[in-house]
Amino acid sequence: RLVLGIETSCDDTGAAVVDESGAVRGEALHCQREVHLKTGGIIPPVAQQLHRENIEQVVKEALDVSGVSVSELAAIATTVKPGLALCLQVGLEYSLKLVNKYKKPFIPIHHMEAHALTIRLINQVEFPFLVLLLSGGHCILAVAQGVSDFLLLGQSIDIAPGDMLDKVARRLSLSKHPECQGMAGGKAIEHLARTGDRQRHTFRVPMQHYRNCDFSFSGLQNLVNKVIVEQEKEEGILKQKLLSCAKDIAAAAQHAVAAHIVKRTHRAMLFCIKHSIISPQNATLVVSGGVASNQYIRKGLQIVADANGFSFLCPPPRLCTDNGVMIAWYGLLFFIAPLGIDISKRVEEASIKVPRLKMKI
Ligand code: ATP
Ligand code: FE
Repeated sequence: RLVLGIETSCDDTGAAVVDESGAVRGEALHCQREVHLKTGGIIPPVAQQLHRENIEQVVKEALDVSGVSVSELAAIATTVKPGLALCLQVGLEYSLKLVNKYKKPFIPIHHMEAHALTIRLINQVEFPFLVLLLSGGHCILAVAQGVSDFLLLGQSIDIAPGDMLDKVARRLSLSKHPECQGMAGGKAIEHLARTGDRQRHTFRVPMQHYRNCDFSFSGLQNLVNKVIVEQEKEEGILKQKLLSCAKDIAAAAQHAVAAHIVKRTHRAMLFCIKHSIISPQNATLVVSGGVASNQYIRKGLQIVADANGFSFLCPPPRLCTDNGVMIAWYGLLFFIAPLGIDISKRVEEASIKVPRLKMKI
């Protein structure tokens, strides 16, 4: 059985055909990043227009590469939430057009659940596992207990880490930095941080006294902004010098983000073991989302995983960011596992609906 997956929740138009064994038969992706970098952020109507212009071609390409026609598909899976409403609408309308024309089942997909289960495309990691999603719009710590069965441990109480890194990058005008042309904000920060001195500035790690697994990045963003303002005053109009300062600020900011993420994840590990949610013999941490491609953050997570007896798994970068493959794959999981889930009901129910836990470690 083959499923076509369609993704348009943010700034990537993605489509893919995946079969039951998890083999990707064909995929295509149109990335809008270059356009949004010029305007300094995503303008939803612009993103919607770009999805409209590209969706047909992207879906056609995925089908052509796979050599599969729509009539051969078992179902069409599409991201329905969360995301930018105007963008989601394009993918949804297009897939419903196909669904009605070819009389195919429709599988509504929760974008974050799809991110969380992408790992099972390449590694048969057993449920339950701890999953950390770090992206431009989300920061979530959850236990994946089964397909469509998640226990939420914590999430950001304000902005997501990718959003914070993008804002810092914008404030530092990194898109104009000669070393960072065309890079996403977080990637530019990682690149500059490699040659920066992270000890020149110290940013306090957020929420150290909070006995839960939530995250916060907006306070940290303000602290970084303050330092940028100070540096601007000191360096005056010497733009060249300001660019070199950017490296040290990037290094210190990245370190604080990493330290915060690692500390919260450590709490989640202790909590899951203490309350027998995850067995120490079979403990795995899965990390995904665009920010998970950051090597510095990954290294910190690897260290905390090793120290606590967790295996550490991360999908390859192209599957960490938004793509059609993860949507098709999550759609397939509904076919593969005898779940008894009524797919039609999921149109309204697609969400990570889980009780919040009171955490005392
Ligand atoms: P969501 O999945 O929550 O809807 P999104 O689609 O914006 O959000 P992704 O495509 O998964 O998220 O990730 C994009 C984010 O990842 C951007 O904020 C970008 O700056 C960040 N990012 C990309 N590469 C890196 C990197 N190497 N280091 C840190 N952040 C990165
Ligand atoms: Fe995403």
